[in-house]
Amino acid sequence: MRFAPDTEESLLFVVTLCNTDPSASRSGADEVATVGQLKELLDRYPFTGRIDHDEAELRDVHRTRALLRHVWTLDRDDAVVAVNKILRDAKALPHLVRHDSQDWHMHATEPGSPLGERIRVEAALALIDVIRMDEMDRLRICAADDCAGLLLDLSRNGLKRFCSVRCGNRMNMIAFRERRADR
Ligand SMILES: [Zn+2]
Ligand SMILES: [Zn+2]
Repeated sequence: MRFAPDTEESLLFVVTLCNTDPSASRSGADEVATVGQLKELLDRYPFTGRIDHDEAELRDVHRTRALLRHVWTLDRDDAVVAVNKILRDAKALPHLVRHDSQDWHMHATEPGSPLGERIRVEAALALIDVIRMDEMDRLRICAADDCAGLLLDLSRNGLKRFCSVRCGNRMNMIAFRERRADR
């Protein structure tokens, strides 16, 4: 199962961003709680254009994270409504750009638009692909008991259940202990 490379990259960023939430993060804390932590995230996943490095921007990123986490769980028709709203609210205007080392790909915002809006619209463009290919069920929540992590299943058989190796190992261990207790 493959989406276009820039679509996969955008979806993986959504996973990374949403899994900084306390319900999914490794530390159990909000891992983008401060402007400094947001900067660290953006050092790993560079965004071109405006970055304010202030509290208002951070709050907008938090709202964006909650919104994208919600959209991730929607069925196809509801996801359409959410994606259309993101695009409409941002007055998105798709166009092709080439910058840095990246070949032609789509942007639908201006570089001066707020960071949260650029994150939402980039995610929406990726979700358009997912919806058109009727693959929303590849966007899932981790099946581990105490984890609400997002997972993107790009596997051939579509059977990925956990957001991380850590969650997979933990749940395998629990299943192993239960089987042994039954005997
Ligand atoms: Zn770009
Ligand atoms: Zn998990």
